[in-house]
Amino acid sequence: MSKNVLVLAEVRSGNLRNVSLEALSAAKQVANGGKVIAALFGSDMDSFVTPLAHYGADQIYLIRNKQLDIYTTDAYTQAFTQVIQEVKPDAIFLGHTAIGKDLAPRVAARLQLGLISDCTGLEVNGDEVIFTRPIYAGKAFQKKKISAGTIFATIRPNNIPIGDPNPNGIASTVSFEAEIKDIRTVVKEVVRKASESIDLSEAKIIVSGGRGVKSADGFKSLYELAEVLGAAVGASRGACDAGYCDYSLQIGQTGKVVTPDLYIACGISGAIQHLAGMSNSKIIVAINKDPEAPIFQVADFGIVGDLFEVVPLLTEQFKKVLV
Ligand code: FAD
Repeated sequence: MSKNVLVLAEVRSGNLRNVSLEALSAAKQVANGGKVIAALFGSDMDSFVTPLAHYGADQIYLIRNKQLDIYTTDAYTQAFTQVIQEVKPDAIFLGHTAIGKDLAPRVAARLQLGLISDCTGLEVNGDEVIFTRPIYAGKAFQKKKISAGTIFATIRPNNIPIGDPNPNGIASTVSFEAEIKDIRTVVKEVVRKASESIDLSEAKIIVSGGRGVKSADGFKSLYELAEVLGAAVGASRGACDAGYCDYSLQIGQTGKVVTPDLYIACGISGAIQHLAGMSNSKIIVAINKDPEAPIFQVADFGIVGDLFEVVPLLTEQFKKVLV
């Protein structure tokens, strides 16, 4: 049976987030001929209508409101809940981003819906949708089958392939007035860290440093390698605790969960709490001078050596082929 599927389209730094396109791709599979509806929040979002249409949205709800220009829990919870009540979708998808993680459980609670969070895959089998999600900090995967009721899920970035855009895709638009009141927080300014120029959770390549990097200065060679590869830089908690880098770079159980195509771990031992954040990366390369380091157990390629020698050599070689 076909379904109408609603997707929250997230915009960050003037761009549609990749995970929203991944959510659209998931929505198309589940819709099975039904309508894929995207919701765009903010006063100046019209330029995103065409790209959303190219990536599969049939209809786009524009919730034009200045109070939605910057995310606040109160405003978005009210607006998104009202959109859902209006659209009455059979399924709702959000990215498993900072916003998705904050918003989805609140909206689910308000509407008394179940929520499947952090999905890494899905299959459609007739009327059933079977979601895959990691459990036990990524050590195992759980399958959740939904065959009745409204489906509500958040999608982990970098897991569901984005289909090719259709340059002829068109979508109708609906202007929707949301009633927003009693906002308890005021965001005066959003200051992005320079390190967030490539978003870690959506990065295709991550060069990550641990306590073995030894100092903030030691991270310079990681940034150089990252620049040549077009990668983001991440870190273990060991490196963050030691003050070598900012906590916003921390990957792991209490940091960010990432699934890049390539994860290069430099001077990271591979503690279970770190693996919880990166072990589902598609290819893992570990550079460590200790051949017994646990990171080698999850690595696809291991380099036993001093990172201060290996990383500059890699940068030099990649420069020859990539720059
Ligand atoms: P270390 O374990 O000290 O490893 C450093 C590695 O560098 C060693 O393997 C060493 O052989 C290697 N090395 C040293 N010098 C060189 C060199 N010159 N060249 C190459 N290799 C070298 N950790 C996280 O990362 N993320 C989390 O989210 C997280 N959450 C946690 C939550 C809880 C509740 C707890 C208790 C812990 C958490 N931790 C987390 C901490 C985790 O247990 C480890 O302490 C931490 O991951 C270790 O960081 P590290 O691998 O950088 O340091």
